[in-house]
Amino acid sequence: MQQLLDGYVRFRSNIYPQHSNLFERLAGGQQPQALFITCADSRVHPEMVTQSEPGTLFSCRNAGNLIPPPNEKASGVAATIEYAMRVLKVADIVICGHSDCGAMKGLLESELLESMPEVRSWLEHAGPSTKWLTRLFSDAMSMSFDQKLRLLTEANVITQMQNLKMHPAVDEALRKGDVRIHGWMYDIGCGHVQRFDSDMGCFRPLLSDDEMGANVQELKIA
Ligand SMILES: [Zn+2]
Repeated sequence: MQQLLDGYVRFRSNIYPQHSNLFERLAGGQQPQALFITCADSRVHPEMVTQSEPGTLFSCRNAGNLIPPPNEKASGVAATIEYAMRVLKVADIVICGHSDCGAMKGLLESELLESMPEVRSWLEHAGPSTKWLTRLFSDAMSMSFDQKLRLLTEANVITQMQNLKMHPAVDEALRKGDVRIHGWMYDIGCGHVQRFDSDMGCFRPLLSDDEMGANVQELKIA
């Protein structure tokens, strides 16, 4: 806890004064660029990875970056999605899975969940495609644990992209062409982000080498 309190002291004495104009502007309201749905994992830091200031990302985080279907009563995820669409009118939704995800490991090694009934029942929202995949894995002995984990985590992102479309406010915005859904995979160790390419049916680098180069040039000029 002391580390958090020390951090608050640094925030109040150094960080806040440097950005006081931003915080004062934000005090009156927010206009975030995107709804960012990702895992609660402490190693996933969307603001750092996307270099986003406060006010940019409307976040929704939970174990395994899951999106329960809209018929769940009093779902915090559903409420966050509805608010993002109907009030904030965000133009993009990112669902971001990540490497070494404990929730996805729990799906692969169900004995890990024996003492955690709440987590087990929450992970039911990973859905039929991930269940199918884990069953398939039990026969695929040649595949390493890490390979299985990677594929399962990717499948979960794709499943959640589908679940998201079941929410009425998202469906409505999609029909009007007002929102885009992006599936990302973040690799903690190397800092790379991949995106789901629905045409190719696979995950590819978020930006090509050319796009990375061009953006770095632009940043240098700016
Ligand atoms: Zn995770």
